[in-house]
Amino acid sequence: MGAVAIGGDNPVAIQSMTSTYTYDIDATVAEIRKLAEGGCDIVRVATPNKIDTEALPAILEQSPLPIVADVHFHFERALEAVEAGVHKIRLNPGNISDRKQVDRVIAACRERKIPIRIGVNEGSIVERKDASQRAEEMHAIAGDRHAHMIRLMVEKLEDYLRIFDDNDFADVVISAKSIDPRICIDAYRAISERFDYPLHLGVTHAGPPETGRIRSVSALAALLADGIGDTIRISYAADTILEVEDAKELLCVLGMRNRQEPELIACPTCGRIEIDLIKLVSQVRQKLADIKTPVKVAVMGCVVNGPGEAEGADVAVFAGKGRGIIYVQGKQTRTVSEDEMLDALYEESKAFAEKVERGEARLTSGGVSIVPPDPLPRSDGSIPLNVIGPRS
Ligand code: SF4
Repeated sequence: MGAVAIGGDNPVAIQSMTSTYTYDIDATVAEIRKLAEGGCDIVRVATPNKIDTEALPAILEQSPLPIVADVHFHFERALEAVEAGVHKIRLNPGNISDRKQVDRVIAACRERKIPIRIGVNEGSIVERKDASQRAEEMHAIAGDRHAHMIRLMVEKLEDYLRIFDDNDFADVVISAKSIDPRICIDAYRAISERFDYPLHLGVTHAGPPETGRIRSVSALAALLADGIGDTIRISYAADTILEVEDAKELLCVLGMRNRQEPELIACPTCGRIEIDLIKLVSQVRQKLADIKTPVKVAVMGCVVNGPGEAEGADVAVFAGKGRGIIYVQGKQTRTVSEDEMLDALYEESKAFAEKVERGEARLTSGGVSIVPPDPLPRSDGSIPLNVIGPRS
């Protein structure tokens, strides 16, 4: 297992969390392996009970990824996880606040040189034990939820970090998650100014991918683009591999991680389309999965805007009624029928990827000039009258 360094100039690491019962060793190890294959760097496992921490040694022995023990309510789980040899502990100030207990976890982590993530979370930030303090906090949140939630998060972190400062323990990562991306953005901006610790970013309880994707990415992209964040987790109510795939894609599109696999560009289709491009794009995506070189492949619906929009692509097809014209790095290589389009595009992409792997070609880094092909005839045989002018 390779070491993952967090913070400083190190790459932003992708984190996920297993959805298995941790005591189910085989299922947990299987999920960790799947996440690792998908590009995950760090994995967190829930440790609600002793049976879970007892499973950790066996999981650690088989895990290809560093493991973080997620501890809530019972500080003993943290001690047991440290003893088992986990790589990091996550504590929630909202449910492990007893000073003596935190001191003991810090001492154990110091001895084993294990970092601790202090994760405040919107769902557990409001005081629960002290009734009058709870009433005060609830009242403040009802008045201006956004501002008071951020104030509470910063205050809770300050209070908790004081214990760590008193113990002279600085091997710390912090996080402040909310379900509201606007709160996340402002909370992380506030804590990045206030504290000098690496930050783990996430939007909590984001929901299913269909809606949670926008909720998560809107916050994470804004923060990452500002240079805030050292590890990220996108969390969905779905198969955890989707979290990792989307986190990886986010880092790739932001230029924070090198793509390892083909990148697919496709037009959104419009009234000029004359083939089932949506179906073709989905088929191309599946077919390209076995290519392990980041060739850029464009699937465009026509020769009108397609060439300009595909100028960054290594391999491109411009489709029209019944046929498509394929370009490789700006050079027209073949014209194929609609039936052959998928296989031909794959063959050209594979052949180009192999050339790159052999050092006989280089991936497009800027743009390639694509001279527009002759317009393809419409279904009635007529030639479209669209004029392709220079790009402004
Ligand atoms: S490439 Fe052609 S078909 Fe696709 S959206 Fe642009 S104009 Fe429409």
